[in-house]
Amino acid sequence: MASEANSSAGDGLKLPEIKFTKLFIDGCFVDAVSGKTFESRDPRNGEVIANIAAGDKEDVDLAVKAAREAFDHGKWPRMSGSERGRIMMKYADLIEQHAEELAALECLDAGKLFSVNKTKDVPVAWNVVRYYAGAADKIHGETLKLSGEFQGYTLREPIGVVGHIIPWNFPIIMFFFKVAPALAAGCTMLVKPAEQTPLTALYCAHLAKQAGLPDGVLNVVTGFGATAGAAIASHMDVDKVSFTGSTEVGRLVMEAAARSNLKSVSLELGGKSPVIICDDADIDMAGEICVAGSRVYVQEGIYDEFVRKIAESCKSWIVGDPFCPHVHQGPQVDRKQFEKVLRYIDHGKREGATILTGGKACGETGFYVEPTIFTDVKENMLIAQDEIFGPVMSLMKFKTIEEAIERANDTRYGLAAGIVTKDINRANRLSRSIRAGIIWINCYLEFENDCPFGGYKMSGFGRDNGMHALEKYLQVKSVVIPIYGSPW
Ligand code: NAD
Repeated sequence: MASEANSSAGDGLKLPEIKFTKLFIDGCFVDAVSGKTFESRDPRNGEVIANIAAGDKEDVDLAVKAAREAFDHGKWPRMSGSERGRIMMKYADLIEQHAEELAALECLDAGKLFSVNKTKDVPVAWNVVRYYAGAADKIHGETLKLSGEFQGYTLREPIGVVGHIIPWNFPIIMFFFKVAPALAAGCTMLVKPAEQTPLTALYCAHLAKQAGLPDGVLNVVTGFGATAGAAIASHMDVDKVSFTGSTEVGRLVMEAAARSNLKSVSLELGGKSPVIICDDADIDMAGEICVAGSRVYVQEGIYDEFVRKIAESCKSWIVGDPFCPHVHQGPQVDRKQFEKVLRYIDHGKREGATILTGGKACGETGFYVEPTIFTDVKENMLIAQDEIFGPVMSLMKFKTIEEAIERANDTRYGLAAGIVTKDINRANRLSRSIRAGIIWINCYLEFENDCPFGGYKMSGFGRDNGMHALEKYLQVKSVVIPIYGSPW
């Protein structure tokens, strides 16, 4: 692996201007009531890039008040689905028009590769808005015959004021996975982005106003989890909380919802996703796919060759400035995450796993970690059980398909899994046997708008993406009417 981690400015690039740093409440950018701010840092070098308004309970109250007013008395929930869809289409166009700037902000804030942001993450964002814009006028109830003397129908109504709490790993995608279906459903909302990555959420709030979204429909409260996030989860006037983040915090959100107003909750939580590489697999394809998996099970017939090839391909893996087009991996999002990843690597070494490649920090500044592959990993080791959320992979050998199924399922998580094989029956058998919300066969991390995404077990419940996500933001009302003199 080549480290360019100390290059500071990505080949003469122009860094994006940070225009929005305040809370977005009721259509205006405002300071936090307390006047407090927090520092947002560039993960390439740890330097402060902006001071962001630190929203707290009072600010959440104001945002909920604005969203409540927009829901109870405003136009958004009352306008036709096609009119909502028209405004959302305009919103999607604006995201597309500002793709370059959004991709650069995401890179600066999260350390995610600029090239990937521009070609994948930001296009996913505008596509998802268009998808739900198209769904907004296709929300229908049912007619119910009931008994001879009554008939009924169902209405599918927006659930109300939604609080979205999102993480730092896919900031703009998570923002729109939550916001787009909720807008289509006719909800009003507030979003709390992760404190590490507030910039694209604020920029997208500005674009929402330009698109013509009425004031109060979409509010953004930046700030910390224990303050702003907790205030949303326990708010008596929030009807639903849609959370993506760690399993530990998901539990706190659910407890707070239960203790306050029993608001509806959906949780998209952590994962420790297995990739199973069978001995008939195309090894080169398998190498590419397993880059994204944290537990990689390789069948014994190809294990040695696979280990040799993956160690070889790591040599050309470039860690460095995420703005540079030839770089494969940028920095970790912040110092906390950087230190957490290094702690897990040390733990893996102490538990007796063998380092095949990487194993330490790299670069003179910033939060860069070498891509690290462990071999000789046992299921009971912490590195095989805990979500590390960094460039650390555990390689394990298996003999039979039965064993692979058992070991792949030996985790408290159930978010995703990958299978690499040319045998269609093996692929089908494995995909039915693995308890996870999405299974990728001979591919990984491929998303389409209509593909639901969410977890089994302690990876949560509820689905983002696809028409299933729309259901989270709707509720069903039954209406019953007598029919006098009905012949049926
Ligand atoms: P996190 O749980 O630390 O934080 C997520 C969000 O919750 C942040 O906005 C944070 O400020 C907020 N928060 C923290 N404490 C809170 C509290 N007490 N009450 C309310 N909100 C609070 O997660 P993270 O480190 O930002 O993100 C990484 C995690 O997200 C990983 O576990 C990853 O697997 C998970 N994730 C899951 C999915 C999925 O679809 N299942 C997708 C992306 C990320």
